[in-house]
Amino acid sequence: MAGTVEVETVEKDGKQFRVVKEGKATILVPQGAKIGEDRGEVQQVFYNPIQQYNRDLSVLAIKTYGEDILAKRKEKILAKSNKQSKKRKRDEKDDGNPSVETEPTASLASDQTTGALDEQKAHKQTFRILDALSASGLRALRYGHELPFVTSINANDLSKSAAESIKLNVNHNGLDEIISVTNEDALAHMYRAIADDLSKRDRHGNPTKSHKFDVIDLDPYGTAAPFFDAALQSVRDDGGLLCITCTDSAVWAGHSYCEKTFALYGGTPIKGMHSHEAGLRLILNAVATSGARYGLAIEPLLSLSIDFYTKVFIKVTRSPQAVKFLGSKTMVVYSCDHGCSAFETQYLLRSKPTPNKKGSGSFYKHGMAAGPTADRHCQHCGHVMHVNGPMYGGHIHSADFIQKLLDQIPNASPEVYGTLPRLEGMLRTALEEIIPGPEVDPTVDPKDAQHAEIDHCPFFVIPSKLATVVSCAAPSDDMFRGALIHLGYQVGRSHCRPGSVKTDAPWSTIWWIITEWIRQKSPIKASKFTPLMPGWKILHSAGLVDVQAEEKPQEGEAAEKSDEQVSSPSELELRKTLVFNEDLARLGRLRDAQKLVRYQMNPRPDWGPLSKAKAQ
Ligand SMILES: [Zn+2]
Repeated sequence: MAGTVEVETVEKDGKQFRVVKEGKATILVPQGAKIGEDRGEVQQVFYNPIQQYNRDLSVLAIKTYGEDILAKRKEKILAKSNKQSKKRKRDEKDDGNPSVETEPTASLASDQTTGALDEQKAHKQTFRILDALSASGLRALRYGHELPFVTSINANDLSKSAAESIKLNVNHNGLDEIISVTNEDALAHMYRAIADDLSKRDRHGNPTKSHKFDVIDLDPYGTAAPFFDAALQSVRDDGGLLCITCTDSAVWAGHSYCEKTFALYGGTPIKGMHSHEAGLRLILNAVATSGARYGLAIEPLLSLSIDFYTKVFIKVTRSPQAVKFLGSKTMVVYSCDHGCSAFETQYLLRSKPTPNKKGSGSFYKHGMAAGPTADRHCQHCGHVMHVNGPMYGGHIHSADFIQKLLDQIPNASPEVYGTLPRLEGMLRTALEEIIPGPEVDPTVDPKDAQHAEIDHCPFFVIPSKLATVVSCAAPSDDMFRGALIHLGYQVGRSHCRPGSVKTDAPWSTIWWIITEWIRQKSPIKASKFTPLMPGWKILHSAGLVDVQAEEKPQEGEAAEKSDEQVSSPSELELRKTLVFNEDLARLGRLRDAQKLVRYQMNPRPDWGPLSKAKAQ
């Protein structure tokens, strides 16, 4: 269970405090401050136990990221040292310098000193975290206790009382050596450091990087958008990590404030079951475009939509080459949001492998994309299409990173991570979201191919929702997945919604499966449908409604009608052998080795965003 709220009290400096333990941290809560029980009241909410999941995830993600990046940096330092030492020895030999023979001890000693220094350097790497909007300071305390490699944490909060309370808690936890507390506007704090680095130049004329952080955690109340620019410039540009939480779900996932969504995130939201995945993509796009102005490219490591907020972990690297691919990874989406829920993506640029002049390989040529990819009216149901975005069209997670996180779980203590089962369930689900795209052209630079990679299966469908459009009994998820697999498509699911099916099948195939399901298993009452209903055109094209006796399609004719939309001739053959039976459901059944807590089904009474802690 998330968050153990203890009612133990202690006295400190003549004041009474309640004690809350989470992970390895202990937090002193002033008497009278809220511990997340009462919603709605504008009170000081000091500790919200339901947010333990968010903190557990942050600790685990930074732990995984930190161990990995420090090991890589160490390897680099030692490899460089090794190379230099070999070069020195070679130079000495080439010079005919007999030092190796006559002064073996001196040379060896100097070699050993340099080697030892490098070794020391490799072991004594710094790792700095900025918790820019620290509030209760609990995250910083947990980082201090639970991440052994961290050398310094800066917990910052605008509120004087919050900063004082963090200081008290840092001292109570014995973390004064690691955590420094500042009481500043987060933007001023970051921009001052940026300005400092920009005005001090090294001998090559480049800005210094002495103020940069390895990790910046942004967890404000509401949107984090105003902080993207400063955080991007304050984090290390050789693979630094941004952890961003946005709690304004009504903005990035709702459609009632689309003008606000555009203002904050530079794109419009999507109306539909996949609105939360669109929200993640809008946030990623806002970070990516902000970074691109400085030549900083992003790699989303993990992007989760959790309850009422999003949490994204993004790696930032200076790479003018990689940012050239941003346009071809940015898409708008045409959505049939008033009709059958079909969508089509449209990328803003096209990066296409093109043979080089030498004929020795290929390079990516960037050019304008042809458009539009959809008609004004939905080709399936005839309803009007709306345009959404632009938003990020690359992969929203890194499979490699999720696997590393999952590898940590068997060794993670349930005492420290109170939400382990849910962490594992959500991570395994996120891993199933990544559906491999077509094979990469082997003649291009593999690094560029990585930069160019887009997500060929953004978003998802929910079979029961599709059934609602055509008013039929829904096929089971297994049956629907089985049909997709039978026709040669890939399937997965999304962490955003229970019952979601991700697939690389086109919408023409999706609607063919549903209408075939009606034909075989779930007959509809044709008289219920009128031409204005979204389901009408779909059923009509399939020969299921309003078919005059004389124009009733001959067997196979309905399938042929939509032949133009079917890309592979083999699908037409496979359609002929699709039978909705137990074998098909078995084909679509996803194997679950153990029961996973994939989705939060039973929110607790204290579930939901709590009001902002009031500054005193
Ligand atoms: Zn439609």
